[in-house]
Amino acid sequence: MRFQDGRRRAGAGTAASPGSGPDPRGDADPWEALRAEIVTCTKCPLHASRTHAVVYRGGRNPRVVFVGEAPGAEEDRVGLPFVGRSGRRLDAAVASLELDAEAYGVLNLIKCRPPRNRFDPAAARTCRPYLDRQLDLLRPRFLVTLGAHALAALDPEAPRILRCAGRPRRSAGRELFPLIHPAAALRSTALSRRWDHDLRALDRWLSGAERRGAR
Ligand code: URA
Repeated sequence: MRFQDGRRRAGAGTAASPGSGPDPRGDADPWEALRAEIVTCTKCPLHASRTHAVVYRGGRNPRVVFVGEAPGAEEDRVGLPFVGRSGRRLDAAVASLELDAEAYGVLNLIKCRPPRNRFDPAAARTCRPYLDRQLDLLRPRFLVTLGAHALAALDPEAPRILRCAGRPRRSAGRELFPLIHPAAALRSTALSRRWDHDLRALDRWLSGAERRGAR
């Protein structure tokens, strides 16, 4: 689907971040202040092994925010979320949804790469206030969770991911759409088909929201 605001459709993800570029408010810009806090964070042991903390890529005023788990090796190297193999799968999905580059954003629960890419629940708890503050500032209309951990973090009541992926949910006043993680879609033909199937459902859901006049 395409949100009808006349802006260009997204290609591969952009590196823009809310508050980036010339800012007359300087340090007073809350997004820049938060970004600076995240990139200098030393609250958990993951900071010691990071190359970059990974904050966000996307538009300043996104309608849709995709929430992943944690940066991998490529993300740690580049400093942007979803720029490796699963990022390419995600970007292809976003292109199929015809979301304008400014209409979506991508971020993770955990901002620094966990060793061996193992999800680190303690780091997720420590990082949680950053996620909440990011979402408060971005105020997206829709959240798309990628994988079981993002779903559990944003909708603790949700059933197991394979039972609820591909169908919209509401949690804490938010409209959520769970998808399996794009890395899972790369793992097997069955999960790849599931990803494609659920993506079509996401497309229909977003189109319906557009018809209902959501921003
Ligand atoms: N997987 C994630 O969950 N996030 C990334 O940024 C990359 C891979």
